[in-house]
Amino acid sequence: MKTIRRLLLVFSLLFALVTLFSPHRLRAQTQPAADLVLRNAKIWTVDKNHPSAQAVAVLGERIVAVGSNDEIKAWQGPNTHVIDAAGKLLLPGFNDSHVHFVDGGRALDSVQLNDATSAQEFARRIAEGAKNVQKGDWLTGGDWDETKWSPAQMPTKEIIDPATPDTPVFVSRYDGHMGLANSVVLRLAGITVNTPDPPGGVIVRDAQGNPTGALKDAAMDYIFKVLPSLSHEQRLKAIKRALAHAASLGVTSVQHMNPDYEDIAVYDELLQHGELTARIYAAPLIPQVDDQVKIGIRHAFGGPSLRIGALKAYADGSLGSGTAYFFDPFNNQPNNRGLLSDEMHPVSLMQDRMMRADAAGLQICTHAIGDQGISIILDLYTEIVKTHGDRDRRFRIEHAQHMAAKDFDRFAQLHVIASMQPYHAIDDGRWAEERIGHDRASRTYAFRTFLNHGVRLAFGTDWNVAPLNPLFGLYAAVTRATLDGKNPGGWFPEQKLTLAEAIEAYTMGSAYAEFQENDKGSITRGKLADMVLVSDDLFKLEPAKIRDAKVVTTILGGKIIWDANDKNYPADPDSPR
Ligand SMILES: [Zn+2]
Repeated sequence: MKTIRRLLLVFSLLFALVTLFSPHRLRAQTQPAADLVLRNAKIWTVDKNHPSAQAVAVLGERIVAVGSNDEIKAWQGPNTHVIDAAGKLLLPGFNDSHVHFVDGGRALDSVQLNDATSAQEFARRIAEGAKNVQKGDWLTGGDWDETKWSPAQMPTKEIIDPATPDTPVFVSRYDGHMGLANSVVLRLAGITVNTPDPPGGVIVRDAQGNPTGALKDAAMDYIFKVLPSLSHEQRLKAIKRALAHAASLGVTSVQHMNPDYEDIAVYDELLQHGELTARIYAAPLIPQVDDQVKIGIRHAFGGPSLRIGALKAYADGSLGSGTAYFFDPFNNQPNNRGLLSDEMHPVSLMQDRMMRADAAGLQICTHAIGDQGISIILDLYTEIVKTHGDRDRRFRIEHAQHMAAKDFDRFAQLHVIASMQPYHAIDDGRWAEERIGHDRASRTYAFRTFLNHGVRLAFGTDWNVAPLNPLFGLYAAVTRATLDGKNPGGWFPEQKLTLAEAIEAYTMGSAYAEFQENDKGSITRGKLADMVLVSDDLFKLEPAKIRDAKVVTTILGGKIIWDANDKNYPADPDSPR
């Protein structure tokens, strides 16, 4: 009896094992039901191997299958959330390769000066804004653009002083390379007729040598020294505001240039609370290089939601402020060919910092706009490769706005990524040619020439310098139609991109620029489920109408973070809905 019982036991164990590992059971184990299935979509995957599809399945925060409606049906279970896209276009989430996220969030709540059309209107809005400033606080932001005034003229403290006798006012030009201080602020900063221009900066003066209140580039540091720093609450509020704005526009990843360390702490706090609804790559300024070197981290250190390991450097200023650094003078200012930034005085200081950053494996992203500014940075990058050898280091040049013809080849040879903002092209294109002439303008935001040379593009906005809306960026890259309506066929139309190329730069291109191309940038099995549904099929729209399309649903890591038709998602007053 004992033997029979033993035999029975062995048989039942064997039966259990066979059942457990039967092919049927195995299949059930390897293919659990998806958490989210999105079907009936027109999917543009940005994946060269499978450019288009109808449906996608998501498990947890990753994509597990992309295919036809029928193929994906197998992933549907009783608890799967199924979205019928009704034929709408589904794209990978947009990745903005260059933003100033806290400034952007602050600007949404600050005085708006950008579309003022005259000095009077500019002054009136500042007077209005000053009324809402609490005692002791400053009025900042603004993003003014004097080229939109008629007549266009440089603003001075005289036009804002009468309405702001007690309020410190320091409003920025939209490009961030110039600011206007009122007399209160000049006094606080101790700027007088006797204050010298700092290296890399200009105190704009009247005929008698008195400061007008306008300060260019490094001269703004006089103000930043006395500007009260943001409180934790102010930062938190600005970042939450910026995150909501980004979600409503389909921006699922941002690369934050020039963050304060306190900003990164706020991101981490939001991440812990499950409230960080955009993936962040933060690049603090290069004078702080040793902080990251000391910790021993390398590029793209961190998780899928929050990473550091890059440094942002400045070669020069901006075209609009007359501080971009050129080989030849500005056409309208024969004695000015721009300014190298204070970080470049002397250039060996920059070289030394870049060498330390590269030796530590950190990524370098350098703002360079004028042709000589870009050229000097390419020299420095060349020196780094010579000294430290070849490596997949993904140097970046931010803006890469005005290229010397001779530099496209070595830009490509050094595998430098051009991190560009198409909206700037249709904005600056209004007046760039009269400042730098036809020849230099032909190599301005030279998207096509870069691609022809095999240079990788990463697209973004430089928000709050330009609006965060990625559809404006696609529109700009595809049409190059300047904002003044004067170039409907495109400003230097030979530099236009196709829509597919522009989308790729805004998704895969930006992901590559932050070492995340294996996790993001396309709708591909295994990648993070960051996707957006668009109101219209951009591929069928007339290019001029792309800017009117809207993102209707934003999905981050498989979770819906924005739905234009669901009132549970608060309307963002600053987004088109
Ligand atoms: Zn910037």
